[in-house]
Formats: sequence, C-alpha cells, structure tokens
Amino acid sequence: MPVELEVNQVTWIQPTQLFINNEFKDAVKKNTLETIDPSTGKVIANVQLATAEDVDIAVCCSRKAFNKVWKNTCGSDRGKLLIKLSELTEKYGELLATIEAMDSGKPMYTNALGDIEECASIYRYYGGIADKIEGKVSMDDPLALSYTRREPFGVVGAIIPWNYPLATASWKIAPALAAGNCIVLKVAENTPLSMLYFANLVVEAGFPPGVINIITGTGQEVGAKLSSHMDVDKLTFTGSTAVGQKILQAAAGSNLKDCTLELGGKSPLIVFEDCDLDQAAKWAYEGIMYNMGQICCGTSRLLVHESVHDKFVEFLLDVIARKSVAGDVFDKNTTHGPQISSAHLQKIKGYVECAKNEGAIVACGGAQWGENGYYFLPTILLNVKPGDTVDQEEIFGPVASVTKFKTYEEAISIANNTKYGLGGAVFTNDIAKGHKAANDIVTGYVWINSSNDQDYHLPFTGHKMSGIGSELGTTGIEGYLKLKSVQVNLGKRI
Ligand code: NAP
Ligand code: MG
Repeated sequence: MPVELEVNQVTWIQPTQLFINNEFKDAVKKNTLETIDPSTGKVIANVQLATAEDVDIAVCCSRKAFNKVWKNTCGSDRGKLLIKLSELTEKYGELLATIEAMDSGKPMYTNALGDIEECASIYRYYGGIADKIEGKVSMDDPLALSYTRREPFGVVGAIIPWNYPLATASWKIAPALAAGNCIVLKVAENTPLSMLYFANLVVEAGFPPGVINIITGTGQEVGAKLSSHMDVDKLTFTGSTAVGQKILQAAAGSNLKDCTLELGGKSPLIVFEDCDLDQAAKWAYEGIMYNMGQICCGTSRLLVHESVHDKFVEFLLDVIARKSVAGDVFDKNTTHGPQISSAHLQKIKGYVECAKNEGAIVACGGAQWGENGYYFLPTILLNVKPGDTVDQEEIFGPVASVTKFKTYEEAISIANNTKYGLGGAVFTNDIAKGHKAANDIVTGYVWINSSNDQDYHLPFTGHKMSGIGSELGTTGIEGYLKLKSVQVNLGKRI
C-alpha cells in the first residue's frame, strides 16, 4: 500500500506497488524489498518485489495495449501525450527531485533538480519527433510502387541502473513510445521510488492502460525474465558491461530480440600542454566528481602532459577544495552526497587501497566522510601508470587517476588502452589538434574543452565494450523501429 513520507518539509503519498495497466498492484507473491536512504543508511520504505509471474502479467498487459490501442494511435497523438508528460514532469519537478535525492543520495539543489530539467526536455524532444517518422519510396521501377515502412517493435523491455533513475527512464520511455512501442520498465532495486511516483504522472497525462508499466524487482529474477521473455520484442538496457553480456546471451537464447546496450566506461581526459589549465581543472572536476562519480561516461583517467602536470594538479586540488561540499543532500550548498550503498562504498575503498599498493599517491580524499551514510571524499590518485588496476577498471565513484604523458601519440595510445569506449575529453587551444584527437580516440562521445556536459540532441553511443546501439538525438528513435519493405505491382504480368 502507499505510504506517507516526509523530508525537507515536503510530505507526499508514495506508491510502493507495481504499476501495471495504469494501476498500482501488489506483486503476486506479495514479497517486499527495502529501499534505503544512502545519506543515513536508514530504510525509507518497503516496495513490492516483482517475480517472473509479475513480468508475465506486465508483458501481457503491454501486448494487449499495443495490439488494441497503441499501434493504431497516430504519431501526433503519441507526441501530444509525451509533451503532456514533459509538462507534468516540470509541474511535479520539485517533488520528483526530492524523492530522487532521498532515495539515491543526489544533492537536491546542485544535482537532482538538474535531472528533472533533462527529463522534461527529453519527453518534449521525442514528443516532437513522434509525428515525423517517415519511410522511403524507391523510384527505380516504373511498374512498381516500392516503399519502406518504419514500424514499432511492439513490447519493449527496459532495465535501468540506480545512478540516474528518472533520467535514464526518460532516455528509454520517450523514444520507445514516440516510435509507437509499449514498454515494461524495471527500475533498480536501490532506487525504486521516483519512478513509482512518476507512474502517477503517466495516468494524469492520459496514457492508455498498459502502454507504460513500471516494475520493481531484482535483476537476477525480473531483469533476467524480461531479457529472456518470448513476448518481449526489444530490450533496452543501461548498466554494467558484465550484465549487458548476460542480457545479450538471454536474448540470443530466447527469441533473438533486438538489444540496445549502454554499458560501462573508463573515459580519458587528455590535458595537452597548450590548453587553458584553469578550465581543464574545472572541467576535470565536473567530469568525474559530479553525481559522486557515479556517471557511466565520467572522465576518470586524467592524462596530463608532463610539462603542465604539477600546475594542473595544483589547480585541480584547489577546485576540489573550493567546490566540493559534502553534507546533507537537502542543504542548498551541498554538492557532494553519499555513494549509493554500503557495498558500493566498500568497493570504492577497495580500489583506492589497491591503487596505493600499486604505487599511487593519494593527493586528496581517499577516505570516508562523516559518521552516517555512505559518503566518500573526492579522491585524486597521482603516479598511476597505464595498465594499473585503477587505470583499467571502472570504479564508478569520486576517484580520478592522474597519468603523465610526453607526446601526442603516447596520450592517444594510453587513452585507447582500455576495453571500454564510452566518453573522452581533450583540452587544447589548437583547434586542429582537438579535432585530430577526437578522430583518434575510440569512444562514442568526445568533448573538446569540456567534459560530461552532454547534449541530448546528439546520439550517445558506446564503442568497444561500452555498448551496442545508441540513444538520444534524432537517431535515438531508430533503435525502437524496425524496417519493412512493401512492393506493389503496378501492372507487370507473367
Ligand atoms: P548493473 O549491476 O549492471 O545493474 C543495472 C540493472 O540491471 C539493474 O536494474 C539490475 O537490477 C539489473 N540486472 C542485474 N543483473 C541482471 C541480470 N542478470 N539480468 C538482467 N538485469 C540484471 O549496474 P549498476 O551497478 O546498477 O550500475 C552501474 C553500471 O551501469 C556501471 O557500469 C555504469 O557505467 C553503467 N551505466 C552505463 C550508462 C550508459 O549510458 N552507458 C549509464 C549509466 C550507468 P538490480 O540492481 O535491481 O538487481
Ligand atoms: Mg535507495
């Protein structure tokens, strides 16, 4: 049943059940799952824990909605509903951000509210694209009308992680629905609350029942069931590379469903000797410390030309000292909240210890902060060598390593020496060198003279083991459409 919650002088009725067919329902087995406030370690609420049977029910409702209503709803009407969802996201933005801050540990005023803006923009953007889906006509044969249709898959399964719950859901729901699909979305165990509240907005916007379904449950059971479901036509996943591989295997072993995978990263940020060092230091801070380093494309590997290394490090430590304010996530000045969980905090600590054992020097941070919750201080590791554990493995925390280089070729070689290929940043005042580096870095996104200020008008793609397919931008809708060719005989006789 829903519960009344209160934080930061805001009170609301929090849904805790599965959202299927526009109704909140208990899971078949009625088991529950605790969700924790990572800034205190205390339980916020218990939500229903779906199992495979609930996935079957949600997929079945979604299929019916697709066949009976959604596939006959024209793009402009789908677009209107998405634009309404965008408006409601803005209307309830403060409350959604409050829930997100409490459940995920994002600082409310310097982080969670920014996510709301992004969500509203993405629903509006794809609302505008919904009526612009077109096919092509081949003019080759005068005796044939040969054309293509771009059709929705039908039922999309979506699985998201905990670092940007509302935002990642918008990356999937908006293009999937704009393309004409229905969706069953599984939220992460650690952060179920914001999307369960968002379900209210789905009803208020007027979406037909079954078009958007939101379920809570473990990855091992609910995520695995969605990936292997015979009646899910497309799976879109954001999360770790290891789980992405399992999803692809499950898809291959079931109905060969199409998959879009947005996976892990270990992104480089190259500081060339001719750049504006003050800017490089500020962006390097934003690029890895924002969201407590829990960013897939966080630029965690700082590769710095040896001639500017000491000055850059001095600037970076100064930025951290001035900008990073750990504290209550509802304090207006707080920029640094807790990590998502105790287990994740321990993992980050383990990486810092490992780096020290491999010869790194801790220039700042390296320790937990405060008495309560799962806070870890922004940490800069110096003297990290290419191939060291922290140079290769995704930490997903507020930890950046600094590695020196001598030449352009060496910088690019270190940058590309990773199994991942998600993001990359380059700092230089030489425009040709910047573009050349953007060509030479093997990642799906490159920033020149910034980091992580991602633009949703551009596609977001993982190269190498960072993913398959792309999201966002006008091409983001392609992942939710399949092609059909139709040939009409205009008079050929045999
Ligand atoms: P994760 O462990 O891969 O979990 C992501 C989601 O997958 C969760 O909902 C999880 O469920 C579910 N899951 C777990 N095992 C599953 C299985 N066997 N089958 C199907 N689903 C399963 O990742 P995370 O630790 O939550 O998130 C951090 C990772 O996500 C990092 O690697 C990060 O780089 C990546 N990420 C990538 C992007 C991108 O756009 N490329 C964006 C954000 C994050 P439960 O946790 O609820 O059990
Ligand atoms: Mg939580």
